[in-house]
Amino acid sequence: MVTEVTAKIRLFVEHPLGAGQSVPLNRDQAHYLFNVMRLAIGARVKLFNGVDGEWLCSVVEKGKRGGVLHAEEQLRDVQMPPDLWLIFAPIKKARTDFIVEKATEMGAARIMPVQTTYTNADRIRHDKLQAHAVEAAEQCGGTYVPEVTALQKLDRLLADWPTGEKQERQLLFCDEALIGQSSGFADGLSDAERTAPWAILIGPEGGFSPEERARLRDLPYAHPVSLGPRILRADTAAVAAMTIWQQMLGDWA
Ligand code: SAH
Repeated sequence: MVTEVTAKIRLFVEHPLGAGQSVPLNRDQAHYLFNVMRLAIGARVKLFNGVDGEWLCSVVEKGKRGGVLHAEEQLRDVQMPPDLWLIFAPIKKARTDFIVEKATEMGAARIMPVQTTYTNADRIRHDKLQAHAVEAAEQCGGTYVPEVTALQKLDRLLADWPTGEKQERQLLFCDEALIGQSSGFADGLSDAERTAPWAILIGPEGGFSPEERARLRDLPYAHPVSLGPRILRADTAAVAAMTIWQQMLGDWA
């Protein structure tokens, strides 16, 4: 499509998108499009909102603090990732940012920071992490932005584990104590487990406590897995686990 090549910029907006729809820009978006990218009236931009797919839009009004785009045609439908949560214990800031960015690129539906016994972070910059997910989706061509949830305790999350779902959510428990064993977790799964929603759990730098490990191994929906013969840093482990899951059960399969 000729028009598509002319629009290189992709932006996430929190606004409905549809043919003929006017889309107001906030200050940051206007600054980015008009001051940083120097777009003129009539310039083309791709917008997505996580629901209505990707739309080719053109600039109809520009100003210092705002502006308006006009939605012309839909380029793509929304493409939802598989129903996969990435649950991880936040680590140092740059590495936590990396995990959120990579989880978005790798196709997580939800990103859930949790406090475990050995987690060193007791707060996170939630708004910043959500903004990283938006940026990653803009950059990787995604039409969906995963929600980053508030920091919660792992115990609480397990106590509230969704059991009302038609199929119980399965948990890929990345357990450093299994180091060196085979990671072929998908071999022994039932059909119901294969098609169920899933979550991946990655521990902090200090790993899981013996009590946490015992509790996790006891959960009927948990599948303890090794990620090979070396200890991976949590950020590497998150990407590795998402890779094997996407390859075996997700949208790479
Ligand atoms: N300090 C711990 C390692 C923690 S690594 C130790 O020395 O044992 C951080 C997290 O990454 C772990 O909790 C686990 O979830 C994951 N991880 C790293 N390497 C792994 C491996 N080889 N197998 C399974 N999980 C791994």
